[in-house]
Amino acid sequence: MNKQELLTKFYDLQKKLYAYAHAQTLVNWDGATFAPEKSVEGRAITTSILGGESHALTTSEDTVKLVEELQKIDDLELKDKRNVEVFAREVKKMTCLPMEEVMEYMKLRAEAEQVWVKAKTDNDFKLFAPYLEKLIEFQKKYAKYINPDAKPYNTLLDDYQEGLTMDTLDKYFAEIEKTVVPLNAMVAKSDILPKVKAIKERIDAKGFDKEGQEKLVDKLFELQGLPKDRCKIAVSEHPFTSGANCNDIRYTVAYHEDNLASAIYAALHEGGHAMYELNTNHDYIFTPIATGASMTMHESQSRIYENNISRSEAFNKHIYKLAKEVFPTQFEDISEEDFYLYCNYSSPSFIRIEADELTYSLHVMIRYQVERMIFEDGVDVMDLPQIWNKKYEEYLGICPPNDTQGVLQDVHWSFGLFGYFPTYSLGTAYSAQFEATMKEAIDYDGALEKGDLTEITNWLRENIHTYGKLLIDDEIVRKATGKEFDPSYYAKYLEKKYTEIYG
Ligand code: ZN
Repeated sequence: MNKQELLTKFYDLQKKLYAYAHAQTLVNWDGATFAPEKSVEGRAITTSILGGESHALTTSEDTVKLVEELQKIDDLELKDKRNVEVFAREVKKMTCLPMEEVMEYMKLRAEAEQVWVKAKTDNDFKLFAPYLEKLIEFQKKYAKYINPDAKPYNTLLDDYQEGLTMDTLDKYFAEIEKTVVPLNAMVAKSDILPKVKAIKERIDAKGFDKEGQEKLVDKLFELQGLPKDRCKIAVSEHPFTSGANCNDIRYTVAYHEDNLASAIYAALHEGGHAMYELNTNHDYIFTPIATGASMTMHESQSRIYENNISRSEAFNKHIYKLAKEVFPTQFEDISEEDFYLYCNYSSPSFIRIEADELTYSLHVMIRYQVERMIFEDGVDVMDLPQIWNKKYEEYLGICPPNDTQGVLQDVHWSFGLFGYFPTYSLGTAYSAQFEATMKEAIDYDGALEKGDLTEITNWLRENIHTYGKLLIDDEIVRKATGKEFDPSYYAKYLEKKYTEIYG
């Protein structure tokens, strides 16, 4: 086959794989949002059959040969070359392990998740420990299969962000520690904090009905500038974004009557993820590069809308106005300033997903340090609760009262996800560097003041979104900002903001 024939075969294959993924995405979306409770069994059969077909197609002898042939061609244009490269990584991940080991691992993961639920409910780490140990053993073995010469934890990090290593993260988290620990201590001692806490309690106590919150979220959708004919919102237990292709993206929000900020910022966060997928180059549709560059880059786009833009004093005013329109009675005695402080309340807590903007990265830093110890130092699994608690005392000044609120809080390890957490925080640091660049390139502050995000979204589309997976994170950061990734932007952003509010 000549080059053109090979490429035609390749893109036909990608379209078929896209179709399987599309169907699975919709079935899962339905399960998380609208399907009746008893639909679980039927859905499990559908997703496992579709998953099996997709796996068989990806790992077939024919596919492996096709990828090998394409990799031998040295004059592919960048888009094709990168599509082959991204897909080849997937094929390698799926074919590097003997099938029996994969099956055994799938079984272990299914059991581990159930055991984790029970261990978390009963505050019983010992119950989960043997499963955790086996999951770690498997991940070490997997990393060796993928790249026998690399450090296993670096190989795992690379799964969530191509090219990410412990070197980058060590430098990054050193900056976080140096900046956030003293800022957090300053906030805790601040005279302003009791006032902000009282405002938060007063606002949360008012109660905000679900119908009103839904109306507000629709208004935020418009304020953010999302396209109604390509994007939809639904309700689920935990907010998430899911996409079939750049013309069909959906996200969800959860509503809590005693916490209005939760829905507001979840909507803007997921709206940021949605915006990224909607704005990837439409010529890439149905190919492996038609999605965000990495978990980290994705998080940078959700966080920039959620935090840098929406928690700023200038833009927060517009959210305040909309909230007051929807909830006139509750907002009778809430001033613009009260609302701004409410949205920027900061206090150390045990649970990562409930953490505020300032302390969030410390939670992730702790998880990173613990994972690093697991893979680099071979720390004993039974020692993890104690190590965890000590770190919370050291960095956040609080000690979890039990493992449920400590080392057992997140589901990720039971799924075998190690190396995933750092992307949550690193993306936030990217967003600070992007924001600083935009302040020089466009009238960023003016846009926030006006409440019109068009110019900001255009900049993000042209400099980040459009590439999809064509480039890796480091290349996108360099192209967009003219510099290497530099965590000091994030440090400066936090210092300025929290000193202004609490200093
Ligand atoms: Zn996110």
